[in-house]
Parts: sequence; C-alpha cells; structure tokens
Amino acid sequence: MTSPEPPFLIFGSPLIEQPEIDEVVACMQSAWLGTGPRVAKLESDFAAYKEMTPSRVTALNSCTAALHVSMVAAGFEAGSEVITTPLTFCATANAIIHAGLTPVLADVNASTQCIDPAAIEAAITSRTRAILPVHFAGRPCDMDAILAIANKHDLVIIEDCAHAIETEYHGQKAGTFGDFGCFSFYATKNITTGEGGMIVGRDEALVARARVLALHGMSKDAWHRFGDKGYKHYQVVECGFKYNMMDLQAAIGIHQLTRVDANWKCREQAWNRYMHELVNLPLGLPTIPEADTRHAYHLFTVRVDEALCGRSRDNFLDRMNAAGIGTGVHYLSLAEHPYYQQRFNWQPEQWPNAMRIGRETVSLPLSPKLTELDLTRVINATKAQFN
Ligand SMILES: *Cc1c(COP(=O)(O)O)cnc(C)c1O
Repeated sequence: MTSPEPPFLIFGSPLIEQPEIDEVVACMQSAWLGTGPRVAKLESDFAAYKEMTPSRVTALNSCTAALHVSMVAAGFEAGSEVITTPLTFCATANAIIHAGLTPVLADVNASTQCIDPAAIEAAITSRTRAILPVHFAGRPCDMDAILAIANKHDLVIIEDCAHAIETEYHGQKAGTFGDFGCFSFYATKNITTGEGGMIVGRDEALVARARVLALHGMSKDAWHRFGDKGYKHYQVVECGFKYNMMDLQAAIGIHQLTRVDANWKCREQAWNRYMHELVNLPLGLPTIPEADTRHAYHLFTVRVDEALCGRSRDNFLDRMNAAGIGTGVHYLSLAEHPYYQQRFNWQPEQWPNAMRIGRETVSLPLSPKLTELDLTRVINATKAQFN
C-alpha cells in the first residue's frame, strides 16, 4: 500500500485560531457587523503596536484603499507625479492613477530589491510631489536616503507597508517615517482580516481627512449615528469612497494582532531553515537583512537564473506545482503589463533590475502555519529540481 499524497501546500495560507473564530461569532451574535467598536479596538491596538496615538490611525477595507485615500487626503494637484518601484503589486500604481496622479518608476537595488534612492533622485521632475516606497518582502527601504531626498525636494512620503507590519529601520517602525504608512490585512499578509487595511499618519488632521474620505465623505460614521448614544445627524463634507472596515473583519484582526510577534518568530525560523538548507543549490537566495533593521519576513524569494539553474523560472514553478507545493511570483515588473505599456509607454528594459528579478523570482511558502514536515517537503522538492 502506498501512503496517501500529502495535501497541496497552499501558498500564503493564513493561520486562523480559535479566538478569531469565537470573536467573529460573538460579533455576529451582537448583530453589529459594520464599522463600530471592534474596528475602534483594532485601531487602538494597532496604534499601540506602532507606538502612536489612535487619532493617527484609521482602518479601511484594503491597503489599496489606504494608498488611494492617503494620496487624495494629501491634496496633490491633478497630474502630479509620484515616484514608486516597478517591483510591486499593481495596486500600488493603480492607487496613484485613481488619485488622479501619474506614477513614475525608479528601479530597485538588485540586492535588496527595494527602490534605489539614486534612481529616485534621477526620476524627480518639477511635477514630482511624493515618493511611494514599498518595503519589499518585509525588508525596510533605505529610509535615511529617502527622507533626505524628500526633505531636499519637499516631497511627501507614502510608505506601502503591505509586507511590513513588523518591519523596523534603525529602531523606528515602518509606516512612521513618512506622512502616511499603508498596511494590508489581505488573506496572505502577515496579519489578516480577510480583506482589510490601515493608515498610520504623521498629521492628525490628514488622518482625520482620510477617515472621512474612506466613508463617503461623511462627518460621522454609522456607529456614531445609530450606536448606543442615539441618532446623530451627519454632514457630507467631501465626495468620499466606500472604504470602511467592518467589525466582522476587525474581529479577526484583533486576535491576529496579539500573535504578530509569535508568528514573526515562526517565519524567521522557517526563513533561517531555508537559508541554511538551500545554500548549496544554484539558486539566488535573499540578501541577509541589514544591521539595525528588522525584516518582517513576509516573503522568502529565490532567484532562478536559467544560465545557472539549467531550467527556466516558469519550469521551476511548474515542477513545484507538480510536487504539490504552492509558490508565488512577487512580482513581474509593472512594466511587463500591457495596461501600463499602453498608457505610459513603459518597457521593462527601462528598469533592468526589476525586469530581471521579476523574470527570475519565486516565492516559497512562508506561513506560520507550516510545520517542520511541510518545510521539509518544500526543501526536498526544491532540491529535487537539481538532481
Ligand atoms: C497586497 C499588496 C497591496 C494591496 O493590498 P490590499 O490590502 O490587497 O489592497 C499593495 N501593495 C503591495 C506591495 C501588496 O503586496
């Protein structure tokens, strides 16, 4: 008798535990599903985690929404340019476009895979208003250099912290360097609410504006209109969006956040095991985290250079899939996608580091849900590609 096939290892599968499940049930039984006390608790818990006052934090239904309303709240004139990285999820660029602004790409550093400050400088024009760095895979960008550029040219910084909940740089937490930090609680991220996001901001008034923009531009949210204090009138003060987080989502996040550091430790161990066990293969491994930083270990990415590996990246992906292991690609350079090519005339060759990384990179599973046996399966399947 052969042993049964182990189940497919789903990439980025979240670790959901009993307290989240109980809280969702309690939320449903309370019959208050929309934005209310559980969202307020998640905001104040997240503020405490980031060591800031709750008035500088607001929850939304995604990081994409967080990026979008941050840029609207910043009040840039239409057509202003925002410099970002080509090695990111499309949402980063789409949020810039939806805010009526123009994305301008600056290539990444080939080793850190984060935006290269020298490339930012080179991309600045008279229309540049903001820099939108992405702390890629959880590694902090070179914030000293980026802050110096922003100060010199009077630019706003909006940090895309979708990978970077736990990230720190020279003792300071990601999201607190710039004017806005935008976080994601999507299903595969380091904390999940299913779908969800958070803005942390430097300026209370701008965060308050983002909060109003995220709920139709209304001056009071539903909890304050229909909650236990009785009906209150609201006024529409802006043409806002429908981007609010529900209590049902926050119910998950409140308990996810209590385990953020325990889960980080699990991923750190998995990361170190991969580094140790894959070192003799012809794969490119991630650069060691810089001193005096905390890497969030959101993604473990390897490089499949066909000349060294004797197989293409896509062939590597197919073989992992056949071995029952889910992988990811983070990311094809934005300039590989037809929409941006047609709209902005971008060609991948203009950002050669991002192009090359995008064509070679593979993300291996790194969820805290993975057992030692799961990790062994991933490692063995990776090694088997080179037998
Ligand atoms: C996931 C992700 C986003 C979008 O987050 P959502 O919460 O799904 O909107 C934005 N930027 C990066 C780099 C991401 O990985």
